[in-house]
Amino acid sequence: DSPLTDDPQVLLARVFGFASFRPGQMEIVDAVCAGRNTLAIMPTGGGKSLCFQLPALCRTGVTVVISPLIALMRDQVRSLRAAGVEAGALTSGNTEEETEAVFQALEEGRLKLLYIAPERLAQSATLPMLRRVGVSLIAVDEAHCVSQWGHDFRPDYLRIGELRRALGVPLAAFTATADAETRDEIVARLFDGQPPETFLRGFDRPNIHLAFAVKDSPRDQILRFADARRGQSGIVYAATRAKTETLAQALREAGHPACHYHGGMEADERRRVEIRFQQEDGLIVVATVAFGMGIDKPDIRWVAHADLPKSIEGYYQEIGRGGRDGAAAETLTLYGPDDIRLRRSQIDESLAPAERKEADHGRLNALLGLAEAVDCRRRLLLGYFGEVLAEPCGNCDLCDRPAKVFDATEVVRKALSAVLRTGEW
Ligand code: ADP
Ligand code: MG
Repeated sequence: DSPLTDDPQVLLARVFGFASFRPGQMEIVDAVCAGRNTLAIMPTGGGKSLCFQLPALCRTGVTVVISPLIALMRDQVRSLRAAGVEAGALTSGNTEEETEAVFQALEEGRLKLLYIAPERLAQSATLPMLRRVGVSLIAVDEAHCVSQWGHDFRPDYLRIGELRRALGVPLAAFTATADAETRDEIVARLFDGQPPETFLRGFDRPNIHLAFAVKDSPRDQILRFADARRGQSGIVYAATRAKTETLAQALREAGHPACHYHGGMEADERRRVEIRFQQEDGLIVVATVAFGMGIDKPDIRWVAHADLPKSIEGYYQEIGRGGRDGAAAETLTLYGPDDIRLRRSQIDESLAPAERKEADHGRLNALLGLAEAVDCRRRLLLGYFGEVLAEPCGNCDLCDRPAKVFDATEVVRKALSAVLRTGEW
């Protein structure tokens, strides 16, 4: 039973311990193994990492993985090593010993996956080093970070196209952000405008129930939602740090295990919450959007938004953290005139260039359109991401109850619609 094989199906079971590919994975793995330039757009939790980790094992030489978050890189390296794969990371978080071990493995030609932080690309020693070690593939995780109009823009991602040209190897890019503009930007910047083989697959997460509600007393609305799901792990997203703290407090007073999480907390304090959430059953984390990218918990049963997210992409990414195990997950997004005003002014007051503001308004308006939808929300949501749903989904609030029963909120909805149309208060 030799460990040496390049059969993806065998590697899937032997190295990763999975019985079968998730929808879309096999096609992507095949294309990447074959050395074709690829762009894979798959929802959060869809299993993108495997789509470059497995091909890295099929190909001779080193696969360079560029990823925006040190914590994510370290997690992946840790689990690859646990599975017996030679992987290492070069990040600013390394100890000297770690860095030494990575170079040692590279020298000896053992390393299969080399994770590097985008900041490394700015260092003059990086390219000569990568030329020397025999790179056969570049994998770019969270490729939307190359988009200047997106919320995760990382200037160093702009150096990746240059790296690809310099090394002359295939590049595989991965993201969960699927709007056409971001896609075009990825193709322009990572692939010099030469369209790669593109996979837009499995975007639907049919197990996630979608629901919006007009905000009346948000604290009570969130408490009611959590009460009905007592004992289940959930996330509540709130727009401000202060609100994460007060809402977590309110949940605790109602007898829920709950804690808050935001970017103003110390790194070790945040890490503690992440670990607790990962390990404990039934914990509720009330967080700003700072909570997310590093979370890999399969059984999050619900995600609530106490405030309207800032864009349709943000919304989709945040609710997408629920139900990664494929079992039912529920969501509730609250919105009201104040949210719209807040999000609009955040965009207007940002220091971003005019084109970016315009794009941000477009993404916010797309979300407002979804909030104001009158039939199947999922169809509208997927449509925005380029996927066509032939039938109503049967798993959103509007499919549950056709619009006419919403009489009680009709007045508020009308008022909101007027605001949306005119932008006036
Ligand atoms: P993404 O990067 O697309 O958000 P990840 O690569 O983090 O998703 O994968 C999400 C989860 O799915 C991980 O826990 C991973 O181990 C698991 N996973 C990936 N592929 C498979 C598979 N074929 N079978 C079972 N679980 C899988
Ligand atoms: Mg990922």
